[in-house]
Amino acid sequence: MGSTGSIGTQALEIIRNNKDKFKAVGLTCRSRVDSLIEQIREFSPEAVSVGNAEDAARVQAEFPDITVYYGDAGLVEIAQMDCDIVLNSLMGISGLAPTYKAIECGRDIALANKETLVAGGALVTDLCRQNGVRLLPVDSEHSAIFQCLEGNGGSACGRAYRESDGGVDRPVRRILLTASGGPFRGRSLEEMRDVTIEQALNHPKWSMGSKITIDSATMMNKGLEVIEARWLFDVPADKIDVHVHPESIVHSMVEFCDGSVMAQMGLPDMKIPISLALNYPDRMKLIGDFDPEASDAPGAGALDLFTTGANLTFEKPDRKVFRCIDLAYAALKEGGAAPVVMNGANEALVAMFLSGKIGFLDIPETIEKVMDAADFAAPATVDEILHIDREARRMAAELL
Ligand code: MN
Repeated sequence: MGSTGSIGTQALEIIRNNKDKFKAVGLTCRSRVDSLIEQIREFSPEAVSVGNAEDAARVQAEFPDITVYYGDAGLVEIAQMDCDIVLNSLMGISGLAPTYKAIECGRDIALANKETLVAGGALVTDLCRQNGVRLLPVDSEHSAIFQCLEGNGGSACGRAYRESDGGVDRPVRRILLTASGGPFRGRSLEEMRDVTIEQALNHPKWSMGSKITIDSATMMNKGLEVIEARWLFDVPADKIDVHVHPESIVHSMVEFCDGSVMAQMGLPDMKIPISLALNYPDRMKLIGDFDPEASDAPGAGALDLFTTGANLTFEKPDRKVFRCIDLAYAALKEGGAAPVVMNGANEALVAMFLSGKIGFLDIPETIEKVMDAADFAAPATVDEILHIDREARRMAAELL
């Protein structure tokens, strides 16, 4: 789901190179219909979903033998298809209902849509446990944490979790969540007031969709990831500690009760978490064999610590400048509707920033105002979450 986006196209590249192992039975896009049509030609899915009825008619005319859905309902249809795993790389809250439906159908989930867990963490993870569904992270930090927890008590939703201990007795002392710091690391608030869309979209390490790239610039992405980690690994927020690590080589760490710290390292390449989620518990060969005789050892694609990772540095995030981190911790602490409100306001404000309607700092400042003003009962269903999300967006527009 979200097959024409950054994660989707990289996942299809993995499928293209492993046709004996994988088949994409369903694909979805919102607006990049031309890309989707190329993907249909190459991967021959049984069904697809597009953004609107007009595009659906166009795709159906070209491919009369496949089922073509559209809109939010179309995403939920694709989520119910008969398959082994649903890779959800949809953008924003639109990913929640399809994830929930796929879990209801008992499908394992490879989750790149962190908003699913930010807004629906309790609901989604409860349903995973009830239905014996694996929730495998496709977020570089969470894939790292997941790997560090393997053999060490495991994660809550990646199945390695031991039902008997309820996550309480695990030897985890702290999750050290790394962050690149984004394009504005080291700046003061005043230096960020007039940044342009282009500057905010210029991420130093990762090439991603525009929403997540702006989230990285405000560091709301890290806030969302704190909440994502809380639900994926059943670790309380006060045991999740953000470490800014501009080199983006250590993708996150887990500290254990004996003082041991496990880290997962690699070049910043989303194919590693995508392939691990699709193959779990196996690993896929993504780089060439090591040849000690080769002049470029360790070889193309491999992490070379003598060069790339020569200086691994870590610093504390500037929480006064990057307010979004604390807003996310506050939302998690408050619980109930608060993370839904924060997420909805953020999504609306990022869209407004990207369309040139508001300034960069209007994003954190308005999220905070919406969170202060909002007073919703804790949502108990996906529909209630979506209602609160819409209200938060409306409040954000009004408060501006
Ligand atoms: Mn991430």
